[in-house]
Amino acid sequence: MKVDYDLAIIGGGPAGLSAAIYAARGGLKTAVFEKGIIGGQIVLTADIENYPGFEENMDGFALMDKMKKQADKFKTEFIMEEIKSLELDKEIKTLRTEENKYQVKTVMLATGANPRKLGVDGEKRLTGRGVSYCATCDGALYRDKIVAVVGGGDSAVEEALFLTKFAKKVYIIHRRDQLRAVKIVQERAFKNDKIEIVWDSVVKKIEGKDFLETLKLHNKKTGKDSDLKVDGVFIYVGVNPGNELVHGKVEMDEQGFIITDKQMRTNIPGVYAVGDLRQKELRQVVTAAADGAIGAFFAEKWIEEHK
Ligand SMILES: Cc1cc2nc3c(=O)[nH]c(=O)nc-3n(C[C@H](O)[C@H](O)[C@H](O)COP(=O)(O)OP(=O)(O)OC[C@H]3O[C@@H](n4cnc5c(N)ncnc54)[C@H](O)[C@@H]3O)c2cc1C
Repeated sequence: MKVDYDLAIIGGGPAGLSAAIYAARGGLKTAVFEKGIIGGQIVLTADIENYPGFEENMDGFALMDKMKKQADKFKTEFIMEEIKSLELDKEIKTLRTEENKYQVKTVMLATGANPRKLGVDGEKRLTGRGVSYCATCDGALYRDKIVAVVGGGDSAVEEALFLTKFAKKVYIIHRRDQLRAVKIVQERAFKNDKIEIVWDSVVKKIEGKDFLETLKLHNKKTGKDSDLKVDGVFIYVGVNPGNELVHGKVEMDEQGFIITDKQMRTNIPGVYAVGDLRQKELRQVVTAAADGAIGAFFAEKWIEEHK
């Protein structure tokens, strides 16, 4: 049977690119399939402060461009096609895109995660009309306006700080009475005059005729409802795994994150999962890159053993 690649990596985020660097450098004929932009979620963020090796802040796009060039250097093939379906049960695995079919020895699932929605009335209708999931993409549209960020983790608070560059006022709406973001980031937010935190509150409804006008809030402690007039809202309440391709095929936890062992192996021989898609404790660029390296190393060993 004709084999196109030793390793097909699905997803060109940090996990996929790191896997490509290790696999291609290790001599595997390697392809990265990407349906959107090479770089993944992190290209949506302006400043990365916590990826080792850079004293100055890097923007997400610049960091991922460096990773891509490094993978290029070792002759990774980048195929800008969306994988639509997978057949994983045979020794040689088949990947299908709209245009093509590919046969490969091993598959690395690196499809990452997508922003979680609030799931409230008005959210879907007003997305792109005041409701956003990306401050880097849309923040500049809110110069001298009033915006809110929903969430209390690192991404929410960092993006709120970023938004103070443009907006005259940034509310952080958080459902608890303390933030989850790391201390240094919390302190920056507390010191920033433009930021006001709305504690213990959730968004019940998003209202506006053609464009966002009002957030209907509910205070979980007092039980009171209130209106917050804003021009934009940025939602950072976590991520859902990008597992559509392998639903019912690969073992997952109850939240849909793929279960792997320490070698990044899934329950299917020759199929690996890395990065945000995987069940893990910390979803960051550095851990995605680490997963990619480990997965590629063991995919290479697996191919060697199954020659
Ligand atoms: C706003 C924001 C700020 C963040 N800030 C930081 C930070 O400061 N520091 C940090 O370390 N981390 C940060 N993160 C987290 C970090 O971005 C993720 O942990 C990391 O990107 C995960 O990498 P990944 O490769 O697993 O997945 P992703 O980055 O999600 O990449 C997955 C890729 O797979 C592609 N894909 C999906 N399905 C298919 C398919 N069927 N066919 C082909 N391609 C497909 C997608 O298009 C995407 O490019 C931030 C995240 C967000 C959203």
